[in-house]
Amino acid sequence: MLIGGEWVAASTGETLVTSDPGTGRVLADVPLGSAEDVDRAVREARQAFATWRRTAPLERAAILWRIADLLEKHADELALLETLDTGKPLSHSRGYDLTSAINEFRYMSGLAARVNGQLSPLSTMPGGVFHSYTRLEPLGVIGAIVPWNFPLANAAWKIAPALACGNTVVVKPSEETPLTTLRAAELMLEAGLPAGAVSVVTGDGSTGRALVRHPDVNKITFTGSTSTGQEIARVAAENMTRVSLELGGKSPNVIFADADIEAAILGAVAGGFWDSGEVCSAGSRLYVERPVLDRVLEGLRKTTEAMPIGHGLEPDTAIGPLISARHLGRVAGYVDEGRAEGIEVAFGGETLEREGHFYRPTALLGATPESKVLNEEIFGPVLTVVPFDDTAEVIAAANASTYGLAAGVWTSDIAKAHHFTENVEAGVVWVNTYGVVDPALPWGGLKKSGWGRENGEQALHEFTEAKAVCMQVGSL
Ligand code: NAD
Repeated sequence: MLIGGEWVAASTGETLVTSDPGTGRVLADVPLGSAEDVDRAVREARQAFATWRRTAPLERAAILWRIADLLEKHADELALLETLDTGKPLSHSRGYDLTSAINEFRYMSGLAARVNGQLSPLSTMPGGVFHSYTRLEPLGVIGAIVPWNFPLANAAWKIAPALACGNTVVVKPSEETPLTTLRAAELMLEAGLPAGAVSVVTGDGSTGRALVRHPDVNKITFTGSTSTGQEIARVAAENMTRVSLELGGKSPNVIFADADIEAAILGAVAGGFWDSGEVCSAGSRLYVERPVLDRVLEGLRKTTEAMPIGHGLEPDTAIGPLISARHLGRVAGYVDEGRAEGIEVAFGGETLEREGHFYRPTALLGATPESKVLNEEIFGPVLTVVPFDDTAEVIAAANASTYGLAAGVWTSDIAKAHHFTENVEAGVVWVNTYGVVDPALPWGGLKKSGWGRENGEQALHEFTEAKAVCMQVGSL
């Protein structure tokens, strides 16, 4: 792993294995970072912070831009690594993950010199002449903890804004997918980032826990499951470490009968099955207005049947494997439990008899509001399809969730679209599209989907502390 600009093994000498989900075969041994390794990375980050926070904003911007250039230059190599480690199709790794990471560094490069406070005229001190303003100051050392589904992209969403604001970062990638983050961090140093400004400590939950507990970490920015996020929030409270949390979801995707149905079907397929449904914002609850239910189901079946399932490196693959045998068992378990409850499997509902961890795209019909498959995040290629009859009913159903990350709506009625976007409880809403993300658009959820926002100018507030300065400069 990369700590303070040096490749090091874990202090304990322990390792863990990362494997190819498309074959189940071992790819590499990586260090299992200990609390001592985390401590070393935090100390290096603290030291680097002293200079990085004072580096001229435009110089920081130039380095971030150079990082984007180097990621782009090595995009094919990084996409290959990402596909080997996550199993996702190479076209997704190159077309989405790498593009997202590169764009994030470019966008945040543009913001690095615009981390501005504001002048605030006072009302409470008549007779005095005051100059009052806020400074947005970097927080210090950021601990970034990342999941396995978008390893490099999610790391970039944290590293780029943190650095733009003058912070330094210790990244803890997922134990399942550490490879691209390690390589990208090496490229960041090549781009001119001071050693220690970004360290990567590989490891598992115990490594993440050591980072959260560390008293000299100013903020934890976490993406992952809701249960881990809740534990992090509890542990972080001890030191009052700042926390932002991008957690799970069970997002509603709503198709009204007046929509462009063919487009909506493609959107529902993307929402449900992109990256095998291992997407936090997957539109896994698909609400369909009753008159078009049969047409939508038939369209879903036909479209998914035509999507080749295979190893991420096979050129035609549209659906890759799930991340691990354990996760495959979990996904299949949800569907089996639904079946036992009397829920109809409209299509799919089976594992593939081949090496690797493959599950067929699946649609379930007949779930009740209490069904687990309608309420819990399955994180696999499983759509729970629910018919509805009117707008008020579907908005109430969409909001009847403990999550609130994303939502989609398909309609040709602009009034209905506005009514839905205004009333749905979600951090991100897509109208007549699904799954578009961009560094300019804030990203994050309500309810158990988390705290805070990544991306957009909001990200600057996640990585700075406002200091209010009130200066009396005279009296009238
Ligand atoms: P996870 O919570 O199991 O692990 C995420 C990361 O946290 C890993 O690096 C893991 O090693 C680390 N970790 C585990 N226990 C920890 C602890 N106690 N303290 C500190 N760190 C710990 O999640 P996962 O299975 O890797 O990822 C899937 C989840 O991530 C899904 O729930 C998905 O919805 C969510 N996700 C959310 C977003 C979003 O933007 N909202 C994006 C991608 C994924």
